[in-house]
Amino acid sequence: MVHSTVLGALERVRRDLCAMAGEEVWLIITDAVRTQQDLERLAARLGWTDEGGAVARHSKHLAQYGGIAVDLVAILSRNRQRLPQKTLGRVCRRYFDWVKDDYGDGHVHADNRDRAR
Ligand SMILES: [Zn+2]
Repeated sequence: MVHSTVLGALERVRRDLCAMAGEEVWLIITDAVRTQQDLERLAARLGWTDEGGAVARHSKHLAQYGGIAVDLVAILSRNRQRLPQKTLGRVCRRYFDWVKDDYGDGHVHADNRDRAR
């Protein structure tokens, strides 16, 4: 379950990255919709943000928000090389309402918290 505005935004991000790179770019979705149980498992590992961790208690990944959030990385299809996190973040900001691109593992979080209302 992913909100239609997210699918449209992902397609535009991929189109722009392909144009910038001059070759085929793939977006790899590493996380999308989570259940409350998923969230609690994740928080057990990474901690809650209000306790200095990485997992928000009211995460936009929760199904109740309508499938509006994705975590992703971008790679060149030719050699599977990752595009820089900040490059992906910059392009995501064109089409998503809210983007976070400073995670230590290099992924970018993007969600359509306003557009999907
Ligand atoms: Zn996320």
